[in-house]
Amino acid sequence: MSSTAITHIGSLVTNDPSLGAGPIGLIEDATVVIEGDRVAWVGPSGSAPAADTVHDAGGRAAIPGFVDSHSHLVFGGDRTQEFNARMSGRAYSAGGIRTTVAATRAATDEELSANVAHYMAEALRQGTTTFETKSGYGLTVEDEARALRIAAGHTDEVTYLGAHIVSPDYAEDPAGYVALVTGPMLDACAPHARWIDVFCEKGAFDGDQARAILTAGKERGLLPRIHANQLSYGPGVQLGVELDAASADHCTHLTDADVDALAQGNTVATLLPGAEFSTRAEWPDARRLLDAGATVALSTDCNPGSSFTSSMPFCIALAVRDMKMTPDEAIWSATAGGAQALRRTDVGRLTPGSRADLALLDAPSHVHLAYRPGVPLITEVWRAGVRAV
Ligand SMILES: [Zn+2]
Repeated sequence: MSSTAITHIGSLVTNDPSLGAGPIGLIEDATVVIEGDRVAWVGPSGSAPAADTVHDAGGRAAIPGFVDSHSHLVFGGDRTQEFNARMSGRAYSAGGIRTTVAATRAATDEELSANVAHYMAEALRQGTTTFETKSGYGLTVEDEARALRIAAGHTDEVTYLGAHIVSPDYAEDPAGYVALVTGPMLDACAPHARWIDVFCEKGAFDGDQARAILTAGKERGLLPRIHANQLSYGPGVQLGVELDAASADHCTHLTDADVDALAQGNTVATLLPGAEFSTRAEWPDARRLLDAGATVALSTDCNPGSSFTSSMPFCIALAVRDMKMTPDEAIWSATAGGAQALRRTDVGRLTPGSRADLALLDAPSHVHLAYRPGVPLITEVWRAGVRAV
């Protein structure tokens, strides 16, 4: 197997404290040796082993590829007017998710697949090498299964979110919709997904419904995750911890008991600052979670309604500026934190044996991701040992 050495990395984030300084395992003047799709060696350039090919990073910083553990990319249509109305202070009628459901149902398979490919390529150019995405804009048996089949053509991290909202077709019969989501729709969707998710929120699904949905999914071999405590206080976070969800996502409105549950459980708190930015909402309190000992991930929540960004660097800048995370905490949460939110150990770090996913920055340090907000710093991306950007 041929090897490639990426040498003269000005500073390298490994996320392995045994390899370098601090929790992010920072190494100055580093080299990464790649064999096949894996990292074979990481350390100071002065002691690097020989490799077949040498690629000089020229002092640029390198980080593990971002792990974006929460997105909604299988959609049709566009919600520019809704965003424009919201940002113009005008009241807008509650079209919301239903607008996208109608457009998604009307789109062809080819259109939906091309849309997923477009936004995944956009994310890759910004350093994202692992991407989760969900269904949730079909809300019929056929349309949800179709969304998952299409998503599975682009990523291994596919989530069944038939329980995004109660389908407009069941507006008068939410119990009937839960029966569909946990019955025939689950039967059709489980073969195409790894995860099951539910939007536990007033106006979507309450705690009892969310419990029934996640439990049914677990019985079919799907792993749970949950949209929890985004718009209001509620049972979502503690339900997620109780059911051993890999992640509770949003976590904007938390009681002390919610924070304690996250700190003591196995469930990652995934924060999605693009959503608060795009809806002018209150920020989640990352500092409170970190100080309590919870594991925090950062993700884009890329979707056409409430957070239409695919940029992990943008989320890092928001997390540092407005959520009081340090730059080191934010880079960890956008890489290793996202990996933990997907229960993955092969990505989100640069250690021997991990997948060779890394991004090079046109900057000497990862801190520039927050220090230089809005600047396209990602100049090179390697995914599974192959240069992709
Ligand atoms: Zn979401």
